Amino acid sequence: MMDNCLFCGISSGVIPSDKVFEDDLCFAFNDIAPQAPIHVLVVPKKHVDSLDKLNGFAPEVLGHLMLKTSQIAKDLGVGEEGYRVVINTNGNGGQTVYHLHLHLLAGRPFIFPPG
Ligand code: 5GP
Ligand code: ZN
Repeated sequence: MMDNCLFCGISSGVIPSDKVFEDDLCFAFNDIAPQAPIHVLVVPKKHVDSLDKLNGFAPEVLGHLMLKTSQIAKDLGVGEEGYRVVINTNGNGGQTVYHLHLHLLAGRPFIFPPG
């Protein structure tokens, strides 16, 4: 838990959120400003700034995040129709919250490449 980190606060329950899923390693919640009919953020409970700062971060937690994101998509009924998973990283990647998170976006088609 890192002080003054929004997603540490949310994943520990100190800051309220609209929770979608939780286990010992990860926490998933609805984005406050959804960019699609389904917009879920999936975060590790252990703080890491970004995909650019993974040195020493447990690879099994990263695998877990991917597996749970896939399962959440299934549970929300969008696995077959499809969805987009995004990890914005640092400035050019458009990252605004520096606690690693996967965006699960679904419920409409997405263009590629994104803007
Ligand atoms: P990033 O731009 O870092 O990839 O994504 C950060 C995301 O966090 C944005 O989609 C933004 O809407 C979302 N967000 C920022 N503050 C909050 C908050 O307090 N609660 C929730 N649920 N989402 C937030
Ligand atoms: Zn954090």
